[in-house]
Amino acid sequence: MTTTETLDVQPTPLALLLLGRESDPRSERGVDCPGDLPAPSDPNLVERARAAKARLGEKVFILGHHYQRDEVIEFADVTGDSFKLARDAAARPEAEYIVFCGVHFMAESADILTSERQQVILPDLAAGCSMADMASAEQVAECWDVLADAGVADVTVPVSYMNSSADIKAFTGRHGGTICTSSNAQRALEWAFSQGEKVLFVPDQHLGRNTAVRDMGIALEDCVVYNPHKPGGGLTPEQLQDAKMILWRGHCSVHGRFSLESVEDVRARIPGVNVLVHPECKHEVVTAADHVGSTEYIIKMLDAAPAGSSWAIGTELNLVRRLAKAHPDKQIVFLDKTVCFCSTMNRIDLPHLVWALESLADGKPVNRIEVDAETEHFAKLALEQMLALP
Ligand code: SF4
Repeated sequence: MTTTETLDVQPTPLALLLLGRESDPRSERGVDCPGDLPAPSDPNLVERARAAKARLGEKVFILGHHYQRDEVIEFADVTGDSFKLARDAAARPEAEYIVFCGVHFMAESADILTSERQQVILPDLAAGCSMADMASAEQVAECWDVLADAGVADVTVPVSYMNSSADIKAFTGRHGGTICTSSNAQRALEWAFSQGEKVLFVPDQHLGRNTAVRDMGIALEDCVVYNPHKPGGGLTPEQLQDAKMILWRGHCSVHGRFSLESVEDVRARIPGVNVLVHPECKHEVVTAADHVGSTEYIIKMLDAAPAGSSWAIGTELNLVRRLAKAHPDKQIVFLDKTVCFCSTMNRIDLPHLVWALESLADGKPVNRIEVDAETEHFAKLALEQMLALP
């Protein structure tokens, strides 16, 4: 089987169901699309999307996250990770409509960083992020009370991953913390430890642990996991007092699936393979990999790799497939044997994009994502702190 054949797979309904099933009416997912969507079988979808985009002209700017389907990426004016896309949107003030082909927290960040007159549109409101959903504002506020009861809230600095809701970003801003991305997590933690003795890292335990232990030499024993579903987070006050890193019990449904076995298996199958994974993967996977880095890092590393080299990539499959196609001179395989799309990212498909663009072209904006003024104010403080990181 060739590399391209290995990667030329489509998400199965079962895969989508399994990864997207944690719906909760109060979460950012599980919301039905209110629109009259074109049928996926409509042979004119590509033409309709082109026509609607042309009618909108400079008024629309379409952002495509790296994990989006090819059919959607084709219409993106820019592609990138969530933070790059939010900044790209802010740099296009003439665009009245920002159509964000990504997930809900990304559209919120774009709304926070763009001007009042710009409207951010998410083509399918059910496109959330299961990781962002693992930390609600109420749960994080309760956690802070637990830290206060243990006498450590005053010496704890919250660091929240970009992949979190606007409410969590605002909490972080209110408590003097910072946002981080997978590219600057180490700088964010170094800054946080210069401000306090402990860090509360929300919501991705793996990024927090990997950065602290692998990149900064903090001992694994100095990391504890706060479980929001257990009283007191499942931790004693003494455990909280002794810990340096308090990791929220959250993870990415996609990157959390890669295992040590998948690394060992690919090394046995492909001699000399370079294993390159995202830091949202589990600690044992990151430890066994040759290279670890953000999506942008993965893209750059493969661009610079010599022809004939072999790579097993541990990140979302839509991106890995595109990278394999872009580098036919290199062997690029997916780290896991099973299909691993981000099911919620995949909810943005061509029918939803056509519906959103045609509605905008008809002057009837749909699925606008708006963050309220107070949340925006405090979330911006935390985002600005990230931009000011040394
Ligand atoms: S890949 Fe993971 S972190 Fe990214 S949107 Fe999907 S579930 Fe969330």
